[in-house]
Amino acid sequence: MKIHEYQAKELLRAAGLAVPQGRYCSTSAEVKAAYDELETELCVVKAQIHAGGRGKAGGVKLVRSAAEAEEAADSMFGVKLITHQTGPEGQEVRRVWVEEGSAIASEYYIGIVVDRETQEPVMMASSEGGMEIETVAAETPELILKAGYSPDAGLNEAEARRLAAGIGVPEALLDQAVVFLVGLAKLFCEKDCSLAEINPLATTEGGGVIALDAKINFDSNALFRHEELSPLRDLDEEDAKEIEASRFDLNYIALDGSIGCMVNGAGLAMASMDVIQLHGGSPANFLDVGGGATKENVTAAFRILLSDEKVKAVLVN
Ligand code: ADP
Ligand code: MG
Repeated sequence: MKIHEYQAKELLRAAGLAVPQGRYCSTSAEVKAAYDELETELCVVKAQIHAGGRGKAGGVKLVRSAAEAEEAADSMFGVKLITHQTGPEGQEVRRVWVEEGSAIASEYYIGIVVDRETQEPVMMASSEGGMEIETVAAETPELILKAGYSPDAGLNEAEARRLAAGIGVPEALLDQAVVFLVGLAKLFCEKDCSLAEINPLATTEGGGVIALDAKINFDSNALFRHEELSPLRDLDEEDAKEIEASRFDLNYIALDGSIGCMVNGAGLAMASMDVIQLHGGSPANFLDVGGGATKENVTAAFRILLSDEKVKAVLVN
């Protein structure tokens, strides 16, 4: 499950980690009020969609007056923002987050995922903050430092210090960075996250260490342990067909092609998609109806496949 940046920042704040003050707004009148309440000249208006890369697409704007804040928000509301993470159809901006601007000294990348080989969470840190981590990984992998840790013991301070110093956090700010990294590592496990990405974590001219962006995804299989997280789900951001599929326990992911796939088993579903692709077609979806699928599940799956206007044929494998 994905959540918005402002929700991720609220979780960070609740865990005692440094994030900018901000307000969540769905009208330009709210944006104006938010700017006035924040009482800092520099503020940032940020489109709230479940995708990164907003900065380059016009979804993050620095403003220096209430009028500029309103203007920035008006340029976002109702717009389908297209970033490298949204797909070509883009994602509609319904709400924005207005937060205090920081005087940035440097930007760093911090991310945590589960390493399936070591079967532990691994923190990745890089001096190349603000950049897409996939690009850094492909072009300059030596600039990504890693530290695995056990969920029980957490990330130890020495490892956190090695990462922070290794990516170039200045000596005077190392203690603050260590607190942030250790706290983030703990939050990742406590909330059963599948991804926690702070890009950028910034050092500021005033001598602070603060998360300017935050992306947190949760392991859907663990959501039953976290009632507190279910209100954070935003169905507006999810594909209607995927929502319907989740009601029937179908593993369904919508794609852009024209051949619907109805398959038992995730491995066979992947192989079927590969074969379609190999022969010049393109799959409209990934679908694993599961081994013990009932008549009701299969009926629901067909209904979902056929509701997709792009589907010209269905391959049942
Ligand atoms: P995205 O990753 O979706 O492009 P970010 O939240 O990372 O969005 O914002 C993009 C850039 O905007 C950041 O790398 C940073 O330089 C700047 N920025 C974001 N939030 C702030 C802030 N509160 N103060 C100053 N600059 C900011
Ligand atoms: Mg970012």
